[in-house]
Amino acid sequence: MIVILKHGIGAEQVEGLVRNLESYGVKASVITGENTTIIGLVGDTSAIDIDLVKSNDAVETVKRVQEPYKNANRKFHPDDTVIDVCGLEIGGDEVQIIAGPCSVESEEQVCEVARRVKAAGATILRGGAYKPRTSPYAFQGLGAQGIELLLHAKKETGLPIITEIMNIEHLKYFADVDIIQVGARNMQNFEMLKELGHSDKPILLKRGLANTIDEWLMSAEYIMAGGNGKVILCERGIRTFETATRNTLDLSAVPIIKKKSHLPVIVDPSHATGITWLVEPLSKAAIVSGADGLMIEVHNDPKNALCDGAQSLTPEQFEETMKTVRRTVEFEGRHLPEWK
Ligand code: PEP
Ligand code: MN
Repeated sequence: MIVILKHGIGAEQVEGLVRNLESYGVKASVITGENTTIIGLVGDTSAIDIDLVKSNDAVETVKRVQEPYKNANRKFHPDDTVIDVCGLEIGGDEVQIIAGPCSVESEEQVCEVARRVKAAGATILRGGAYKPRTSPYAFQGLGAQGIELLLHAKKETGLPIITEIMNIEHLKYFADVDIIQVGARNMQNFEMLKELGHSDKPILLKRGLANTIDEWLMSAEYIMAGGNGKVILCERGIRTFETATRNTLDLSAVPIIKKKSHLPVIVDPSHATGITWLVEPLSKAAIVSGADGLMIEVHNDPKNALCDGAQSLTPEQFEETMKTVRRTVEFEGRHLPEWK
């Protein structure tokens, strides 16, 4: 971090500022030029409040030379992080396909979808038990019972399961869940992120509806700073002026994340577009952009789905999409895990 001082600041004020900055445990070096004095800080500056330093009377401006995230930063961890989920690798050569209904509705529904998506090549089952709905009158999910039903489907098919947490008080129901999802609306629920930092489970962190890539990485940092390094990022579309799709899929986020961070990143073309026919082309594009996996909503009866029917593929459509996905993955020199 570089602190540039205002013109004509006296030695005493400079010394006071140096003492204050060094109280954060960093080393400060003063460089006095003819017209400008600057203070260079080396060490871990992540705890320094840049706005507070900027508000100091002696300070003209402050520049960060290093990102405020350490754990999630590729500079400090050059190798890709590979996360093990029941023997599957997320972030390595394998591409994982997470598929399943938006919400768990019944045992028959989730088990049928689980069987069908597995037969088509999916490797992880998704299903919402706690649902973040815009309307309080819409179906809110089956809660803990929904997780029980997912566990039935896991037992029947062997697919690991992922489901969303909305309230840290519910963590006790997630003991047998393989990946905990933090939804877009909770990306900056910092108290929840801190608690999940103490968990040993992989956390899939969706990008917020209107959050920058750096804010998203700072949220990952919250989880990692607590000791949980198993963070999977998920790009699910952001809010823009465009109304043709539910959100705008920001595929540039994938290579940008890969450059800035060592964490795996997957893409959710279902929530990004909100439209079934767009799921296949954007799945293909996501793989080519370097994504480590996809999350796709599949429902046995989308017309009567209790949530997100308009973007849910039928099992038949998912099977077709998987043919394209498989070809694309192989073309990229990666592979989908095969069920024995
Ligand atoms: C979901 O995956 O069911 C979901 C609600 O997604 P998002 O948080 O991305 O809206
Ligand atoms: Mn959904």
